[in-house]
Amino acid sequence: MFRHNVRAMPLRHLGSLTLGALAVAFPVLAPHSDADDSPAPDTRWAPVAQVGTEERHDPAPRVNPVRAERHDRVALASLDKATRLAETIASYAALRDAATAQGAPDAAVTRGGQVFALPTTGRLTSAAGPRWGTTHYGLDIANKVGTPVFAVGSGTVIDSGPASGFGLWVRIRHADGSVSLYGHIDRSLVRVGQSVRAGDRIALMGNRGQSTGPHLHLEIWSADGRKLDPATWLSRRGLDVG
Ligand SMILES: [Zn+2]
Repeated sequence: MFRHNVRAMPLRHLGSLTLGALAVAFPVLAPHSDADDSPAPDTRWAPVAQVGTEERHDPAPRVNPVRAERHDRVALASLDKATRLAETIASYAALRDAATAQGAPDAAVTRGGQVFALPTTGRLTSAAGPRWGTTHYGLDIANKVGTPVFAVGSGTVIDSGPASGFGLWVRIRHADGSVSLYGHIDRSLVRVGQSVRAGDRIALMGNRGQSTGPHLHLEIWSADGRKLDPATWLSRRGLDVG
């Protein structure tokens, strides 16, 4: 009870500390005394029943203890909630910083604490959709050969090497079973079986395979093998390819 009052006091009495309030907040420090020099009781907020009774020499409580305790509980719960929120924001900021530490242009943390990163820097040259009479399932981002390519999410490398059409590729399987694919790369920086985190440098952009200029070809496959729209997939995780 004493500890509770000490914690709660600044919330209620910061601007209007009086001897009466001190006596309520620090009962251990305010010995009961009937001596003439005891501070005059502050009865402004006292319950009517206590005024004029034989207890009148005691300092009257300045606040209704039941209401005050409820008020303090609510205030402390809000404070705890705000503290937890601040801690969460700080930890998410740290995750985001870690995911951009190797150069990824942007990273985002979902409400569940999962981290995602944009795969490279460059110019968006083609989004998923119909192209040249067929369906293009990837997202093309063009830049110079050697531009770093980053893992869009954490997972395990399942392919790193030559691939028909893609020249060289890296594929990463994520915890939910989905797969991200990075095609036409010039060089892989990871090996099969390696664990990677979102934003890790996994490859260098290239112009290998069926490619008409240096670019990254990114695909996202669902756990059951459907090819998803990478821009939509990234956007749902808080990342815009622009
Ligand atoms: Zn492509």
